Amino acid sequence: MTHLSALVAAPSGQALRVAALLRQAPFEFARVVYGLSDQASGRTGTMAAADVARAARQGAPVTRERAEQRARAYLPTADQAHCPRCWVFSGIKSPLHFREPSEERPESALCRVCGAEYATEV
Ligand SMILES: [Zn+2]
Repeated sequence: MTHLSALVAAPSGQALRVAALLRQAPFEFARVVYGLSDQASGRTGTMAAADVARAARQGAPVTRERAEQRARAYLPTADQAHCPRCWVFSGIKSPLHFREPSEERPESALCRVCGAEYATEV
């Protein structure tokens, strides 16, 4: 990376992070819908169904309505980003841990509660 590109990337990096995470909330809501549908039809082995079951074990049962409300209300901030999956599935604010980009992979955000990992730069 040249000095110039570092300079350009720095100020917008946090905003890009938040934007990348915001884009994940509708996908997590879609996973809730798939997971509930899988469960209802007996396909309990899918990833989405397993996430629904795990969230239900943690507390309140997962419903489509509540997940949709939470997906709309998801609002990470640059200094307090929380996991979209934990929030949409369970209403829990789990802190994300950012992993520095390397030559092989872009920066990503990890959740140590549910194991989700999100790429936070393109
Ligand atoms: Zn999580």
